Amino acid sequence: MYNIVARIPKVDKPIIFNNAESTLINEYKIIIEKLKLSKLNNQIKSITVISENEKEGKSTTCFNLAYMLSQAGIKVLIIDADILGQSIHKIIGIQNQIGLTEALVYQTPLDKLIQNTSISNLQVLSAGTLELIHTIDAVNFKLILEICKSKYDLIIVDSPPISLFPENATIILKEIDSALILIQDYDHFKSSIRWKRFIEKIGNKFLGVILNKIENTISNLCNICGNKNDFKSYKPCRSNNKVIFRNKMYCEKCDSQERHRFMWEYIKKNQHIIKNKQVVHCGSEFCLFKPISKLTKTYNKIDINPRPDQIQMDILNMVFESESIDTFICSHVLEHIKDDNKAMKEVARILKKDGIAILLVPINGRENTTEFLTPNKEDFDHYRNYGYIDFIDKLKLYFTSVKRILPQDILDERVIDLCSLSYEKDQGIFECKK
Ligand SMILES: [Zn+2]
Repeated sequence: MYNIVARIPKVDKPIIFNNAESTLINEYKIIIEKLKLSKLNNQIKSITVISENEKEGKSTTCFNLAYMLSQAGIKVLIIDADILGQSIHKIIGIQNQIGLTEALVYQTPLDKLIQNTSISNLQVLSAGTLELIHTIDAVNFKLILEICKSKYDLIIVDSPPISLFPENATIILKEIDSALILIQDYDHFKSSIRWKRFIEKIGNKFLGVILNKIENTISNLCNICGNKNDFKSYKPCRSNNKVIFRNKMYCEKCDSQERHRFMWEYIKKNQHIIKNKQVVHCGSEFCLFKPISKLTKTYNKIDINPRPDQIQMDILNMVFESESIDTFICSHVLEHIKDDNKAMKEVARILKKDGIAILLVPINGRENTTEFLTPNKEDFDHYRNYGYIDFIDKLKLYFTSVKRILPQDILDERVIDLCSLSYEKDQGIFECKK
């Protein structure tokens, strides 16, 4: 997964002069919450932020993250390991006569090099000025990091731009626990995938991508209703027996969740499957009702517990004649059905020869399904947690071809981000042809 953990707007004022409700502050709060950085028992003890090129905002991001954590009571040390770029001391407004380079070369004790700042809980080991040093000594750097880790809750290391100084950046990455990738716009998202692989090959933890200096002030856009307000998060959210944080999950205007917005993007790209066709939508979600009904010829909205605009019908026993329906849409229904094989068979029965079923279920992230004998109270009364492989195997008993489609397969990262579809990246739409 290449999740964007935050979208940092382009701002004129340093973070310390932003008010508590600003988008900048909020985005950093999201990073801290998502990565659980404010938990003192967190396994992450050191972080670096890497970027491909210089002047992408890496040092400012390190400082902003450190500042926000220090305000949350976390004891933070920033190490400026961009020994040739050197900008942390300028951002904070402190001296840089001596620093990391002196510790690396002369083993100067760290308490003589680390500086206090005007910000409580935040100290800095600036880059230092030994101009002869171009390469960071891996052994000494490791030692310095170990000493610092024992004295601080979290170490944030400012790394050099990876394309300019790959050797130093690699040494830092090897010694650090975890890394964030900073990119400046969506066009660079593909290069971040390359760096993610690089980080993981080295063996440390990839935390996600930060999109920096975003000029567009729209942070979310609902593709269904056009709402431009931030989506609301839902927390804690239980999914597959785990309590998870679902950031920017639902649109307050139309009540859509990620899967509805993804389904609508999918339908927009495959309009032929509903345009002037006989469509059955089981458990039809209110948010999708309007846009789909504009395209279809006959739109049958069914549900076992119907709203006034739906027809009462059981997916196990539908009134439609065999081979009479072009498209069957059903999202998050099968997991509530004890005999889901019977439901799949019934769906296949009503579909025309070249008909298509668009099926969505909660996927557990594993290959195999876990079945429960009775509806699992811990998991929204579901009868099972579907695995992404054996769900396909099951569907193949009733359909000639089954394809799992993920947002990253059909959408560019900008749409995934704006419509907040990241959660769907390991869920997906199961496109079943009869
Ligand atoms: Zn909406």
